[in-house]
Amino acid sequence: MSNIRFQALQAVLGRTVQEVKLPSNKISDYFSANVFDKLKMKGYLSKEAYQVIVDSVDKGEPIPRDMAEQVASAMKSWALSKNATHYTHWFQPLTGSTAEKHDAFFEPTSEGGAIETFSGDALAQQEPDASSFPSGGIRNTFEARGYTAWDPSSPAFIMGRTLCIPTVFVSYTGEALDYKVPLLKALHALDKAAVDVCHYFDKSIEKVNASLGIEQEYFLVDIALFNARPDLYLTGRTLFGHMSAKNQQLEDHYFGSIPERVYAFMQDMETEALQLGIPLKTRHNEVAPSQFECAPIYEEINLAIDHNQLLMDLMDRVAKRHNFKVLLHEKPYEGVNGSGKHNNWSMITNTGKNLLSPGKTPKNNLMFLTFFVNTIKAVYEHADLLRASIASVNNDHRLGANEAPPAIISIFLGSQLSDVLDEIETSRISKKIKDDAMLWQGIPKIPQILKDNTDRNRTSPFAFTGNKFELRAVGSSANSASPMTILNMIVADQLKKFKYDVDKLIKKGEKKDVALLIVIKKYIKESKNIRFEGNGYSEEWEKEAEARGLSNFKTTPKALDAILSEKSAILFEDTKVFSKREAHARHEILLESFYKKLQIEARVIGEMVTNIIIPTAISYQTKLVENVKGLKDIGLDKSTYTAQLDLINQLSEHINFIKTNVDQMIGERKKANVIEDIQAKALAYDEKVKTYFQPIRYHVDKLEQLVDDSIWPLPKFRELLFI
Ligand code: ADP
Ligand code: MG
Repeated sequence: MSNIRFQALQAVLGRTVQEVKLPSNKISDYFSANVFDKLKMKGYLSKEAYQVIVDSVDKGEPIPRDMAEQVASAMKSWALSKNATHYTHWFQPLTGSTAEKHDAFFEPTSEGGAIETFSGDALAQQEPDASSFPSGGIRNTFEARGYTAWDPSSPAFIMGRTLCIPTVFVSYTGEALDYKVPLLKALHALDKAAVDVCHYFDKSIEKVNASLGIEQEYFLVDIALFNARPDLYLTGRTLFGHMSAKNQQLEDHYFGSIPERVYAFMQDMETEALQLGIPLKTRHNEVAPSQFECAPIYEEINLAIDHNQLLMDLMDRVAKRHNFKVLLHEKPYEGVNGSGKHNNWSMITNTGKNLLSPGKTPKNNLMFLTFFVNTIKAVYEHADLLRASIASVNNDHRLGANEAPPAIISIFLGSQLSDVLDEIETSRISKKIKDDAMLWQGIPKIPQILKDNTDRNRTSPFAFTGNKFELRAVGSSANSASPMTILNMIVADQLKKFKYDVDKLIKKGEKKDVALLIVIKKYIKESKNIRFEGNGYSEEWEKEAEARGLSNFKTTPKALDAILSEKSAILFEDTKVFSKREAHARHEILLESFYKKLQIEARVIGEMVTNIIIPTAISYQTKLVENVKGLKDIGLDKSTYTAQLDLINQLSEHINFIKTNVDQMIGERKKANVIEDIQAKALAYDEKVKTYFQPIRYHVDKLEQLVDDSIWPLPKFRELLFI
């Protein structure tokens, strides 16, 4: 009987390309078909109710009770017309994925039949049985009370036969239990602070929205191969596996032609995404074999994040139809590129101006420089917090490894903008500036061809790319709300401080534009250390960063400290994004998730080694022993079986090493498990347990190379990556 690996390979050989039926040749025919968007609301709601929703989205005004009733009834009519049978509040708990609790629309009537109902109450507020969502001690488990309430800034949509209503998730004491609530608070703070600063330049600006375009990287693997690897289906990554003879060294995958089966999956996934209003625009191969990327057109940030969460879920569902498994893990294969989620971020006014787009006139450029330099200063001031916001056990494997940004937060601007900032820094802003002409001479011209010339330093975790910043350190499986809450919050805080500094100078009698330039110049000087144009992957950079005083937290338990720092506490208080309790709760949840994932990995390593690897190695060794015995029996001398003896010895060495180290690792795990303090526990897992992973793996991978291929039960890298 062939082993599970060969059965899986057999299954892969039998695969055919799934046919994908497009709803129409024109995407515009079906884009957003499954979304209760503004256009549909207009058709289903009274003029008055429609306006209430629009105001709620644009101005954050609450929706009155009677209106909620009307909206619910409209939503139900639309959903039933689309054959939906259930509804759910769709939310983003801190577990990292999305959560749903489905309720049917139908309700039995006293006469015996049933009707479809959906009330304003059901729309506005729902109490899921939430006792098992992480809340970091905020909500006592036995109380199990968390509320979900509709977030009107993200439209309802239909998945399958369920109406999904994007909601926030809060405890009954009003504390945030999800990713959305702090994000919305940060966006509110940014809007206010940015509008205030905009008024130095343009009084007509009433609102500033952050925009976000998320590039999503992922790996695909055949479902049969995936299922033959317990490490993949239990942890999302391979814990063992020798590198394939051919991997990514030829770089022939990137922008190569997309394999047919993958292409069918992409088309299918895109069709569903487009119907859900996710504006997917690009698709291509990535650097590593079997690695791909898709990206939508940027959207308002809250929506962009909901769409990315939805997309990750969708990818997984659609992949099954094509016998694929999507790997969103940051580092599924050691030695091969990891996956990230580039967050392209900017700020856009209600008048349509991108605040990070350099202008044509000096006056516009002063506005651009204001937002540009404030962003740099914000990241400089709170780099540690930004680092904390992307920290996870998965991302620890990726940051600083194979073509991923390092754990040091630095900013890349491109030589042209660096020169511009250097010029301002060294220019003399004379108090004697009398007229505008003199002032504008102090602002260097920003070259027009910027967009093509910036970026392409792929090694930077935070890069300016012409009209936006790109945060590249975010992990592929992460919820972008975590780093985006921090980014928007720190920029909001910085803009507030900027306004304070500028107003102070104006009060002292400085001309407005001069005051702006003086503060900009000061910030450029103060934040200079975070700017780095060189190779972020190099060792020299690590040394230089250290000399510059930049942090380099390589692992999560230490990186997370920033959440509890004095500096962050002041920031949270000023921006009102996190209460003290919320900050502590988040810190705790993140540490808990960190150690629990390592705990699972350690267990899987133990089980696989004991039940799969060692038995396989021993059975091969036994075969060799029998062979040697046989050769001896027929009277051959030792010289005829030296190779066999050598192999037998090598196998024993590896088996012994693995067994001893797994036992020791289990010992360390037991010690770590009884540690009460959660940070100490996370550190113990990181520094005492995880340290065994690599040496054990090394020897398992040696066995993979030694043992007869026909009995090795785990699909090999060459099969996972190239089939
Ligand atoms: P690449 O980074 O691969 O060169 P692009 O620059 O075309 O690709 O864009 C990457 C992502 O950035 C896309 O999702 C795009 O919509 C988004 N993007 C473009 N402009 C902005 C902006 N002003 N704000 C936010 N995201 C943007
Ligand atoms: Mg990009």
